[in-house]
Amino acid sequence: MDVNTLFWVNAIVMLVMAFGFLAAWARRRGEACWPAWIAANLVLASALVLYIFVPRIAPDWAVLPNALLVLGFGLRWRAARLFSASPTTWIAVWAPASFAALLFAPPLSLGAGTVFAAINLILATQAGVIAGQFWRAREPGSLSSYGLAAAYAIMAASFVSRVIEGLAFLDSFTTYLPLDGTLPSHLVVAVIHTSASGVFALSIAYERTTVQMRDERDSAQKRAQNYSRLAQRDDLTGLMNRRAIESRFSELVADGFCAMAVLDLDHFKRVNDRHGHALGDAALCATARALAPDDDCLAVRMGGEEFVLLLRGAHARERAESRRQAIPRRIAADVPGLHGIVTASMGLMELPRGLTGIAFSDLYSATDRLLYEAKNGGRNRLVSEKLSLFHEPPRRAGTVAA
Ligand code: GH3
Ligand code: MG
Ligand code: MG
Repeated sequence: MDVNTLFWVNAIVMLVMAFGFLAAWARRRGEACWPAWIAANLVLASALVLYIFVPRIAPDWAVLPNALLVLGFGLRWRAARLFSASPTTWIAVWAPASFAALLFAPPLSLGAGTVFAAINLILATQAGVIAGQFWRAREPGSLSSYGLAAAYAIMAASFVSRVIEGLAFLDSFTTYLPLDGTLPSHLVVAVIHTSASGVFALSIAYERTTVQMRDERDSAQKRAQNYSRLAQRDDLTGLMNRRAIESRFSELVADGFCAMAVLDLDHFKRVNDRHGHALGDAALCATARALAPDDDCLAVRMGGEEFVLLLRGAHARERAESRRQAIPRRIAADVPGLHGIVTASMGLMELPRGLTGIAFSDLYSATDRLLYEAKNGGRNRLVSEKLSLFHEPPRRAGTVAA
């Protein structure tokens, strides 16, 4: 492939990548790196086209493609900084390009070889600085980050080889635009560099979008979980509310929660009337603590001063009863200033293991009837019943008064 074709290929790849950056910008309008990258590629593409035409039409205008090339790399530096949300300055974009243009000023009358070496030194420095920027800002686990830094490092190395060439053959340069022997390989490196760096940048943008979407999905899921947890909690006591238990009742029964207790504080209206609502609330919180929920005993505040326990495992009746008896002690200890003891009545129903299809509301009303009996029997007591799978009358486990 001849040098002009390679210049064209480079220019076309620059334009294709600029289009890719434009597409990325359309999706990510808030990211300032994309317009900088598009501008850089357009400037570099025009520099490459000028490298084809200037030597033939206007050799004295060699300053143009060279200064534009340096300006293009300045813009790429800006794009690289913006890509990793680092601060940028326009001086770092314009100063190298202005300095490059100055090298061509007639009063300086620098030799073509010196200008060639100096321009390539500026470009090598710019490419090296950009490689360093991408290396420092590399993203953990992103291979494209390493690829991007490597693409610029390779380009910097190619410019360095041009500097060495310029210095080695300083006096044999007759033009500012030498179409010398190493130019084709330099242009091949440039094509690889441009396509690789463009593809890696777009792939990093894609990775970022994926990560961002995953983070947003995770936090939305977390929020939804929090809302549903809050919706299943009783505000005052922190116990579960009725919804929490009713919505998965059949699952809980299948998991072995075969005993239900319904508790109600005795003469609680009097507590409120005598001591005020705030102390009444404190007594309700103390009750929740006395109920001491654990993996085998779920505690629910149904509303007001009524609570439900769901128990699994052996001695459910005894465990529920010991919680009921703990209530007056807990309230007395946690709510100073309360005169008299606050007791609780409880109805308890034990289902046989393996019973399925029972609705929460049915079991609750049956257990509530037992609670009603406990209230009628004088309060501060437990009335319990055990259901069996056989069609025989329910076995009355007994009434316990404290
Ligand atoms: P019983 O022994 O028959 O259950 O009598 P009781 O006074 O406990 O029952 P009643 O249903 O007549 O009164 C319940 C009282 O519970 C009425 C209300 O003042 C009180 N209560 C209900 N919810 C709350 C609450 O969230 N905070 C407070 N402090 N009191 C409440
Ligand atoms: Mg009550
Ligand atoms: Mg009540």
